Amino acid sequence: MGDSIRELTKKAAAFRDERDWSQFHNPKDLAISISLEAAELLEIFQWSGPDTEADTEEKLAKIKEELADVLMYCLLLGDRLDLDIPEIIEAKLEKNKKKYPVDQAYGKADKYTAYLANKEKGRAL
Ligand SMILES: [Mg+2]
Repeated sequence: MGDSIRELTKKAAAFRDERDWSQFHNPKDLAISISLEAAELLEIFQWSGPDTEADTEEKLAKIKEELADVLMYCLLLGDRLDLDIPEIIEAKLEKNKKKYPVDQAYGKADKYTAYLANKEKGRAL
């Protein structure tokens, strides 16, 4: 599947450092950049009506570019804060498993609070 997250982070950091951009990469501006690039990803679908798929080569090419921008800023924020990206993803997956128990969330798109409400109801009964 390509380079590991750590290898890609090194490459993104090298790109940044070759340009002396580290001085601009504070956590606030990196978080803003993640959100702005995510908005560019959304823009691809703006005004597309019922079209929800990446069904053309042109659209898929744009998605690849914006998704790469989002992911690179995520890696750079992780680097800036000295976070272990695989570790924080694993930790969040474990947390989400508890928030979205398979027996309650299977095939549903409810927010986890719906399952908490079910749990509370169960206690009250
Ligand atoms: Mg972009």
